[in-house]
Amino acid sequence: MQRDHGAPTRRQALSMLGAGAAAAALPGAAIAQPTFPRGAVIRTLLKDFAPEELAGGATLFHEHMSLRDGFLTDWNRYAAEARTANAIPGGAAAGRGGAAPAGGAAGRGGAPAAGRAGAAPAPAPAIPQGNVLADEKFMTEEMSIARREGIGCIVDAGHPDMGRDVAFLRRISQASGLPIVASAGFYTQPFYPKELSGWSEQKIFDEVMKQVRANPTGALGEIGSWDYITREERKVFRAIGKVHLATNIPIFTHTGIPGKSALEQLDLLEDVGVDPRHVVIGHLGNLNDPTTEIQRAIIRRGAFIGFDRQGGTGDASVLAMAVSLINAGYSDNLMFASDLSSTREMKQAGGGGYSKTLTVFVPKIKAAGVSDEVLHKIMYDNPRRFLAFVPKIARSA
Ligand SMILES: [Zn+2]
Repeated sequence: MQRDHGAPTRRQALSMLGAGAAAAALPGAAIAQPTFPRGAVIRTLLKDFAPEELAGGATLFHEHMSLRDGFLTDWNRYAAEARTANAIPGGAAAGRGGAAPAGGAAGRGGAPAAGRAGAAPAPAPAIPQGNVLADEKFMTEEMSIARREGIGCIVDAGHPDMGRDVAFLRRISQASGLPIVASAGFYTQPFYPKELSGWSEQKIFDEVMKQVRANPTGALGEIGSWDYITREERKVFRAIGKVHLATNIPIFTHTGIPGKSALEQLDLLEDVGVDPRHVVIGHLGNLNDPTTEIQRAIIRRGAFIGFDRQGGTGDASVLAMAVSLINAGYSDNLMFASDLSSTREMKQAGGGGYSKTLTVFVPKIKAAGVSDEVLHKIMYDNPRRFLAFVPKIARSA
């Protein structure tokens, strides 16, 4: 790694601060800091941070570090069913990274091509078997690598109905030194607990409040619609909106079929009184539309939009849309992340790892002409502006 003959001491110092790759990718030290509301915090599992304290690294607002065994298998099956119902080809970009065809370097976050003159191709690391999202040693190492590569804070988008394990997240955060934000909520129709269909909106509100009180909770998400938004999903959206009003905790969403119900998600939250500035409507990079009509409509209402499956095969189509939105003056409302969960995308399996939004996607968009200042804002400032809230309830232990 020490290929530079420049100033190893400084490089090492930056690396120890977890800012090495970030500083290399985005020299933005002179950029003005955003301002945050008085008393605002970013609530991570181990402590509440003043948002300014997390300025030294990029913040990823939507990733997965803990999911139950079998979750991704179920996810892929339900996704295939929804794509069939919507006449979308099965392998479309609508899928998770994990659904990418095996065996190619294409899905591996731009790993350098083997066969450079004279060098024998390095063997690809073996893909670990089993659920690495429950493997403490493996995930601690992924978090440590992400931190070294410039990530300063990371949001886990799971909650109980996805089999997210808070104690596990706490341990990997502690061991790696990477602050992790835990979420609360209910995910989407196929994953709701069976009894939810009989619950009132008030009961759903009470259940989410129980989650919020059980663990230090820094976000409500990902909550979503799997296909066209269902009656129960609407109830969850309204209840989550009311939890936000009771706590100030910000909300981020999942849209299942590209763009479908995206505007209605925001309607539902606004109808109960949520200010769109505290909302990210997610997965809108999957909505491959050069006019970016829906993305713009959401931004004009004040919400963030998530291009949150970055650093892989979908980058090309998202690049054009992101550049178009940035050129139209909408960069304050853009959020990038990778929604990582697939083993093959992990660094230890030869993938781009949790930092790939910063280390794989950002260089591409920079090459497309977007300035360091704008990219610094999107990677460092927008997610902190989104996550910072003035708590209405005390953090649990
Ligand atoms: Zn997700």
